[in-house]
This record gives sequence, C-alpha cells and structure tokens, in this order.
Amino acid sequence: MRFSGLRLLKEAVTGHKGWQPLWRDPESQEAYDFVIVGGGGHGLATAYYLASHFGKSRIAVLEKGWLGSGNIGRNTTIIRSNYLLPGNQPFYEFSMKLWEGLEQELNFNAMVSQRGILNIIHTDAQRDAYRRRGNAMRLSGADAQLLNRDELREMAPFLNYEHARFPIKGALLQARAGTARHDGVAWGYARGADSHGVDLIQNCEVTGFRMEGGRVTGVETTRGVIGAGKVGVAVAGSSSRVMAMAGLRLPIESHVLQAFVSEGLKPTIPGVITFGAGHFYISQSDKGGLVFGGDIDGYNSYAQRGNLPVVEDVAEGAMALMPMIGRARLLRSWGGIMDMSIDGSPIIDRTPVDGLYLNAGWCYGGFKATPASGFAFAHLLATGEPHDVATAYRLDRFARGHLIDERGAGAQPNLH
Ligand code: FAD
Repeated sequence: MRFSGLRLLKEAVTGHKGWQPLWRDPESQEAYDFVIVGGGGHGLATAYYLASHFGKSRIAVLEKGWLGSGNIGRNTTIIRSNYLLPGNQPFYEFSMKLWEGLEQELNFNAMVSQRGILNIIHTDAQRDAYRRRGNAMRLSGADAQLLNRDELREMAPFLNYEHARFPIKGALLQARAGTARHDGVAWGYARGADSHGVDLIQNCEVTGFRMEGGRVTGVETTRGVIGAGKVGVAVAGSSSRVMAMAGLRLPIESHVLQAFVSEGLKPTIPGVITFGAGHFYISQSDKGGLVFGGDIDGYNSYAQRGNLPVVEDVAEGAMALMPMIGRARLLRSWGGIMDMSIDGSPIIDRTPVDGLYLNAGWCYGGFKATPASGFAFAHLLATGEPHDVATAYRLDRFARGHLIDERGAGAQPNLH
C-alpha cells in the first residue's frame, strides 16, 4: 500500500489534513482518442488496461454520477469461474487469474478473498449436472471438487440436513472462488487509470452520439460535446437506453436485482453458498454481516429498488437451506439494474456504427467478470480484434442463433 501504518497514525493525530484524493478531477478536453462511457467496474478497468497494457493515451471515462455509483458498488461481491460452456468458461477463468494478481497489479487492497464457493446439490440428477460442470471447469484449467454430504457437513454444519424440505446430497466446490470488496475494485482501477493519464470525468452524462457518414465522431454530454476517435459503452443497466441514442436496439431487458445484509454476526459462513433448489445464495462480509440475495424482480424496470415478492422468495429459500438465519435481523436491502441478455451471456463487440463498441449483457454476474471484461474490451478497442477468450461474445449471435445459453436462472451454480 502507498500509506504506511506510521502515516495513518500521523494523520490521525494531526486531523487528517494530509490525505490526497486518489485521482484527479480534470476538466474534459475537447476530444480524446478513446471515450469510455460509464465509470463502473467495467469502464474503469477498460480505461486502465487501455493505458497500462495497450499503451494508449488520450483516454477519458465519462460517468453520469460518481465513480462506482452503479452496480459495481451494489453487488454481492462474488467472484468465481464455475461455468460450463466453452464460450464462457475460459473467459471467467481468465478473469479469476486476473483477480488473483489484481492487488499487486493495482497496488491497492481490493480485499480479494478466495474463501471458496459451494453449490449445494439436492438430487442425483443435479449431482450429474454439477459433475459435468466440474469436469468442464477442470478442462479449462479451473479447480473443481465434488463433495459428498459428509464432506460438506464438515465445512457447513449449519445447513438443514435433517428432515429438510430439500435433502442435501453434497456440493460442487470451487476453492479458488470467493469475494472481493466491490467498491475497492472501482477505486483501485480508478486510481490506476488516473495514474496512467486517463481523465475520469464525473457528473457527465452522455445524452447523445455525434456521427458523420455512419461513423461516431463524439458524444453529447451534460457538460458539452466531446470528440472521440472511438467510443466504448459500458453502462450495464442503462445499455438499452444509451445504445438507443445511437439508433441501436439491443437483445437486452433491464430488471432489478435485490440484495440484503444482516446485522454483524460472529464468523459463521465459510465461503459463498448457493442453494440448489431455489434462488438463494449467501456469504459473510468481513464486518460479520450475512450478505445474501436471490432472483431478479420479474418485471422490467429502470428503478434501483425492488419489490416484496422477491423479498419473500429469498426469505423462503434462506429458511429452507439454513433455518438459523431466521434468528438474524436484517440491516439493509437495496437494488441495482441488471442488463439481462437473452441467453444470459455478455456482449463485447463492435456495433454496426463504425467506431462505436459495446460491453453489456452481464446479467447477474458481471462483477466477477470485471478484470477480464476490462482487458478484453480494451483489447478490442486497441486492436480492433476480439481477445481470444471473448470471441463468442458477438452482438450478432442473437441474429445468427449462436446463443451461449448459460443464464443464471433456476438453481444452477452460475447464479451470481
Ligand atoms: P455499473 O457499476 O453499473 O457501471 C455502469 C455505469 O454507467 C454507472 O456508474 C452509471 O452511472 C453509468 N452510466 C449509465 N448511463 C450513463 C450515461 N448516459 N452517461 C454516463 N454514464 C452512464 N456480479 C457478480 O459477478 N457477483 C455478484 O455477487 C453479483 N451480485 C450482484 C448483486 C446485486 C444486488 C446487483 C445489483 C448486481 C450483482 N452482480 C454481481 C452484477 C454486477 O454488479 C454487474 O454485472 C456489474 O457491476 C456491471 O458492470 P459495471 O460494474 O461496469 O456496472
């Protein structure tokens, strides 16, 4: 870290006057080579890798609110690479490897904690499906382990094994999965990008695109027109609305996803646990709060707040899996807007508008993708070619019928 313990002590006794902001607050220039729309995890990571790994300069990130005000600061912080399909698994394993070196890369404590994920198995057919998934993970270099009921019980004795509504038969474990501090990830990438000369411009909403002869030449914003050689859009839950300004209709629906946190408890949950018979998953934060969630709200919405039916559904899942949770008090709940693609998989691609690129469709699971998504999007913007692990994330796959059907629906381990 940049600040030593001694520095912390000095600031504490001298009134905290010596701290510097982690990034500059620049005025926008008239034009940039690269304009990234959206200062969430993906936009910031893209700008960071464009500058640091691809040697590009004259880069700006435009954020309508403040950096990290979107889903990057609202998610339940789970990182993992337990996917099944060839279009997805290598991408998420690449992301996992980037997570493993991220704090050294950024020299920033993002609290990456590889405490493991357990996908609970309730039926024999589910064990077969998870075994297949585990094999696919191993083939792409990820770790996976099938646990029987006794092995699981040693790790998670508090689950409902006796007379349970959904009997527990074991679990698929990915030990290298875990959690990371979500807003720390945004701050780390922001500081890294800024230190490579990227202009991070907050309170700057993109309200339109400037085009000439089918090519994007800049963006209209609440702070004026900004010229751009290339524009990369990474606005998560706002993808359809922003791309509509360029005349494009996306295969994406926006839904709210809610999350919940309990009062702080003593260490109880060993890692991340997902229920296999309904929509419920849980982990425990370093402060002791149980962090949990479930499915998206069923209707389309751009409001960052959810409704009671999903609260009830999540509570039912929680009580079915671990009845002891009924004794914990809920502290807070919140929502974020998900850019749900039709097949559950993302898009990292050029668009029919020359110079305009899209990063979207992350559904429930874009936090874990942040490093790889930023790297692959930067690769595409810098070289014009998709990165090797992101070749399947084409926008036209929906028209061609080449879907990557791995949505986080139902009781799959690819939830969140
Ligand atoms: P955001 O942080 O939303 O960034 C997009 C930014 O674009 C926003 O800051 C927004 O203000 C900005 N923007 C929008 N429109 C404009 C405009 N016109 N001009 C300028 N800026 C604009 N994923 C996981 O992998 N693991 C999890 O455990 C997990 N849990 C989740 C739990 C919840 C409750 C939620 C809501 C999401 C969860 N996710 C999880 C999903 C994950 O958070 C998202 O997929 C991911 O954060 C999206 O990418 P982002 O960080 O770039 O998005």
